[in-house]
Amino acid sequence: MAIIGAGMAGASCAQALAQAGLAVQVFDKARGPGGRLATRRMAWVDGAGQPIETRLDHGTPGLSVQGGAFDAFIRQGQRFGWLAQWHPVLAEGSEPALQDAVLHVPVPDNPEVCRQLLSGVSTTWSCAIDQLRWTPAGWQLEAAGEAQGAPVDAVLLALPPAQAAPLLGPHRNDWSRHAALAPMQPCWTLMGVAAEQGAPDWTLARPAAGPLAWLMRNDARPGRQRVPGQAHWVAHARAGWSRQHLEQSPEWVQQQLQAAIAELFGHAVAWQHATVHRWRYATPQRLSAPGASFWWDGAQGLGVCGDFLGGAGAEGAWLSAQSLAEAVQRWARGTAEAA
Ligand SMILES: Cc1cc2nc3c(=O)[nH]c(=O)nc-3n(C[C@H](O)[C@H](O)[C@H](O)COP(=O)(O)OP(=O)(O)OC[C@H]3O[C@@H](n4cnc5c(N)ncnc54)[C@H](O)[C@@H]3O)c2cc1C
Repeated sequence: MAIIGAGMAGASCAQALAQAGLAVQVFDKARGPGGRLATRRMAWVDGAGQPIETRLDHGTPGLSVQGGAFDAFIRQGQRFGWLAQWHPVLAEGSEPALQDAVLHVPVPDNPEVCRQLLSGVSTTWSCAIDQLRWTPAGWQLEAAGEAQGAPVDAVLLALPPAQAAPLLGPHRNDWSRHAALAPMQPCWTLMGVAAEQGAPDWTLARPAAGPLAWLMRNDARPGRQRVPGQAHWVAHARAGWSRQHLEQSPEWVQQQLQAAIAELFGHAVAWQHATVHRWRYATPQRLSAPGASFWWDGAQGLGVCGDFLGGAGAEGAWLSAQSLAEAVQRWARGTAEAA
């Protein structure tokens, strides 16, 4: 069977199915796994003309746990060393909900969780699937008019809803319409390297007002690179602010976010390099289909999982994928018995 998407949902679904002995092939349009569990390699040149590479976690700041099943997964990651706890030092005036929060940070970078989940699974990168064609031999995946792999008995979509919708349209119009309307929140994200001198002594701020939702000191996170003289920052704008300024130029957004950071610090910041990234679909606004944590159509061998079905965040994506994997295993057993 084929899984489209190698973020938290696709990778954990693939692992569950592979462990159950099913043959799985994963496709992703990116050059590697992770999806929104993302880390950017930022290449820049310093004042002395030296080329520098800085890695900044511009996707999920970390994994937090609400339920027992995901907790067991997190503990497994800690045991094997690909997750570490981060107890950030909170800036004064930060939103109190985070006072005691523990964030579980993938080590050495955010995609590591998905890399681990996919070890031993067959993967194809840089492959944007744009059509699912039903043939007598099974599902044929296509990218830019070319068939990708052999036909498969089932195809599972683990994509943000806006990207799943066009693929679902010809086969499950009801799901496609639902996915197209699923509200996702955007997030403008700033990644920057500033002078260490003058940096505050806290490592995470959640301001109560203004454009910034989060500002974290990336190089204070477990397993991250520390460079003398540099402070690495990642800022996430609030969803409302990001939506309001979604079509603004990156230059304008960068200026606004840097001004907000200077205001938070109480002084000008000596930036050495900075850039912004626009996440159009960062987090689900609310559950799009309450009660259904995944979609599965056994008659067609077509399924969907992801955070927009399982609940906001990485935990929701993981839960949705586990539930879909269980349904697919039951279906595969039934199909084998009937044969
Ligand atoms: C800025 C930001 C902040 C966040 N903050 C938090 C937080 O604090 N806590 C939390 O729990 N979660 C947070 N999240 C959300 C969390 O990252 C997601 O809920 C989770 O990673 C979603 O996983 P997924 O597998 O459902 O989707 P994704 O990670 O989006 O994976 C989808 C994959 O599908 C691929 N793809 C898309 N279209 C195609 C195609 N046509 N063909 C092939 N591949 C395709 C993409 O490249 C991607 O790899 C945040 C996300 C962002 C971006």
